[in-house]
Amino acid sequence: MAEKLRVLMVTSEAVPFAKTGGLADVTGTLPRALTELGVEVKVLMPYYGAVKQGQIATSPVAENLESPLPYPYNLTFDLIGAGSPDYPFYFVARDEFFERSQLYGTPKGDYFDNLERFAFFSAAVLPVCQALEFHPQVIHCHDWQSALAAVYLRNRWPGEEAVSRAKSLLTIHNLAYQGLFPKDKYPLLGLDWSLFCIEGLEYYDQINLLKGGIICADAINTVSHTYSQEIQTPEFGYGLDGVLRTRAGSVFGILNGVDYTEWSPQNDPHIPARFSPRNLKGKAADKAALMEAFGLDQSRREAPILAMISRLADQKGFDLVAQVLPKLMTRDLMVVILGTGEEKYHRWLQKEAPKYPGKLGVKIAFNNQLAHLMEAGADMFLMPSRYEPCGLNQIYSMKYGTIPIGRATGGLKDTITPVDPKTGKGTGFLFEDYAADAFLKAIHSALAAFEDKKLWQKIMKNAMAQDFSWKTSAKAYLELYHKLGSA
Ligand code: ADP
Repeated sequence: MAEKLRVLMVTSEAVPFAKTGGLADVTGTLPRALTELGVEVKVLMPYYGAVKQGQIATSPVAENLESPLPYPYNLTFDLIGAGSPDYPFYFVARDEFFERSQLYGTPKGDYFDNLERFAFFSAAVLPVCQALEFHPQVIHCHDWQSALAAVYLRNRWPGEEAVSRAKSLLTIHNLAYQGLFPKDKYPLLGLDWSLFCIEGLEYYDQINLLKGGIICADAINTVSHTYSQEIQTPEFGYGLDGVLRTRAGSVFGILNGVDYTEWSPQNDPHIPARFSPRNLKGKAADKAALMEAFGLDQSRREAPILAMISRLADQKGFDLVAQVLPKLMTRDLMVVILGTGEEKYHRWLQKEAPKYPGKLGVKIAFNNQLAHLMEAGADMFLMPSRYEPCGLNQIYSMKYGTIPIGRATGGLKDTITPVDPKTGKGTGFLFEDYAADAFLKAIHSALAAFEDKKLWQKIMKNAMAQDFSWKTSAKAYLELYHKLGSA
């Protein structure tokens, strides 16, 4: 039998263990799809408080592994294991780094020692491979938090048996988050100062971990084709478009897949009533439950609900939402928003909600169960993002017949087919310019389509028939892994 391809997935979050956004959905579900394609995958992530106190049993695998980093004192860590034997998860346990209430910081700001935390985590790759006697052919890193693993592989670990056959792939889920730190922390990384340069980790006299990864990884990909092109332009490049252009031949786009065992109205355990394209009855029950959860006025049941589930961050277009909200609220509709993030948005939403009782529902929380109910019970889903590397919610929404209204950027553009009201073709509503009037126009088109019940049902069925499961995307990753292996 041919030898299996061995992949170590290095990630700072993964469902079902710890999640702040789409990264966790991807790294928690791609491993299963790869396993089904015959790949041997192990996942490595930090042992957060949320994992330690979570529902899933974990057990010790190894103790006192030595970090190869040059701290002023010798730091060790324990290795913990969990998950399916087919694609096991391993956790780097060092409580003063990872046993915290959040993953990266609080609404007031990032944790002060994120460089130390994620350098420690990335450097753990080598001792973990040694301890597990697992010699990966691909080390698959994600975002700035594990980008250093690609830097270490290239610069610190040549000659290390455990990783001698490994090539690195860096997946960028969001270019705006780069892992920027003051230069005086550089010695903590255990890298030669010669790498603190314009062709290395230096970025305007600061350390930029993602840039290091972009330069050192054998290949780079983003989570949609359009975003892989956009990030090579100044508008979307967040200062790294030039660096990315130097690697243009090694930058790929692979659309995220989704896990329909978790996100489908036909088998969703989190919603009160299940439904399918052939029998949509349950959706009305879910809508009633959603209205109750947000304290909406039950007499408005015939009016559409527009939902938003999001990190409360500038990226997600909340300034456009703020601009269109007063006009929207003059129409016969309801809006529900679930999110956590920047404090300025917490304050704004808490101020808006009481102005529109029974019509605008707001919850400042991270609540997976409620997210499922919103996908199921709402009629439309708003994603007016400034940029959107892939976006998962529009993909989930479509499966639930909740029609997305999104900006034509990144993954939104790649996954939503604009509705043509004449033919009834299409799965959602897109707008081009990042402007309130363009957003409002798209919402008005959706509201007009909603009035025509026959047309709306057709659009719902088109959307529900879309298939963005991992089948295609996992194959694309496998091809890329093979390409790396033969390079
Ligand atoms: P991003 O990764 O940029 O935050 P994505 O659309 O790719 O955006 O993925 C967001 C994921 O996080 C989705 O699974 C979404 O349901 C979930 N999510 C975001 N905010 C919340 C929240 N407040 N409560 C529950 N789930 C949330």
